[in-house]
Amino acid sequence: MPDPARLAANWADVRRRVDEACRTAGREPAEVGILPVSKTFGPELIRAAVALGMRRFGENKAQELRDKSAPLADCGIAWVMIGHLQTNKAKDVARLASEVQSLDRLELAQALDRRLQHEGRAIDVLVQVKTSSEPSKYGLPPEQLAGFLDTLRGYDTLRVRGLMTLAIHSTDPAEVRGCFRRLRELRDREVTRGHAVSRLSMGMSGDFPLAIAEGATEVRIGTAIFGARPYPDEYYWPEASSGA
Ligand SMILES: *Cc1c(COP(=O)(O)O)cnc(C)c1O
Repeated sequence: MPDPARLAANWADVRRRVDEACRTAGREPAEVGILPVSKTFGPELIRAAVALGMRRFGENKAQELRDKSAPLADCGIAWVMIGHLQTNKAKDVARLASEVQSLDRLELAQALDRRLQHEGRAIDVLVQVKTSSEPSKYGLPPEQLAGFLDTLRGYDTLRVRGLMTLAIHSTDPAEVRGCFRRLRELRDREVTRGHAVSRLSMGMSGDFPLAIAEGATEVRIGTAIFGARPYPDEYYWPEASSGA
């Protein structure tokens, strides 16, 4: 069971390691934010995280985000969608999320836009780009990025702020770093083309120093803050599994 008492120590340790990676890379620690990834962990632990000063949380499933947001409605949390999102789940995300980092196709942009217009809201989005050759990874193919960003200019509800990626799952640091470098190069190219996509969300518990070395402006950290996920693809939160 994740222990709220360990959270403070983990959180401080992650911040220290991020700062250290910044110094090693010759960057200012203030340039790199941490997005705590709370997927599979329940409201009690998230509430403890809020008490430590965390306010944005990454979730990878629309249903889970919806289930957790209700009991935590008093916490002022900014929910960030970081997982593959089906268009038929766009409604909940448009209502509850402050940001989507996994925008990877036009069909999803259209679905979110329609729902956001209905809600009278606009949200920040990052475009998820596929930077590795692994077949299982979601993300827009890099060669489609320029056209996609041009098209997104027509969607007032989607404020495009940057790019997101997941690196290849590999023990070879050069391969992992190559993914992060590709995202930075795409960002630099699109900034030159006039798109305001300065943010780079890349790096997780196992690879964030490499991402910071390649210019990450935020790292998405789950395990190193909240502990291991015993059932990686399921809720860790017992009361949630009964519903829906
Ligand atoms: C789970 C997840 C993370 C965090 O992974 P950890 O290895 O636990 O830090 C980051 N990004 C995405 C998209 C995730 O789904």
